[in-house]
Amino acid sequence: MSSTQGAAKPNWRGIPREEINWHPTVDPELCIGCGICVLNCGKNVYQFDYEKNVAVVANPMNCLVGCTTCQNTCPQHAISFPPLSYIHKIIKKKGIIQRSREELLANKAKYAVK
Ligand code: SF4
Ligand code: SF4
Repeated sequence: MSSTQGAAKPNWRGIPREEINWHPTVDPELCIGCGICVLNCGKNVYQFDYEKNVAVVANPMNCLVGCTTCQNTCPQHAISFPPLSYIHKIIKKKGIIQRSREELLANKAKYAVK
């Protein structure tokens, strides 16, 4: 039996995560195998191919939508993402602005400045 059986499917702001094509792509020709992306990602997106000496995007749907930290810190510019406009279009098309605003107002105890 799967340990995730019965667990809610991952989603981002109410949208099934698998419907959002946001994740890093590593160019193996540029990657020098430093491992910064593997070690630094807090979402367990990467694994490392020790034989080929390259970072591997093993769990793409774990990537936090909108995050580009690994791209920003890769010294080889070996990591790419879709354009940010892709996410902005989803935010506008799927009503995320309104839903986020409602969620914010419903959780004042959590988010209000103390
Ligand atoms: S940070 Fe860049 S060069 Fe280093 S392992 Fe990751 S992709 Fe390769
Ligand atoms: S963008 Fe952020 S969450 Fe996604 S793989 Fe890179 S460091 Fe991890």
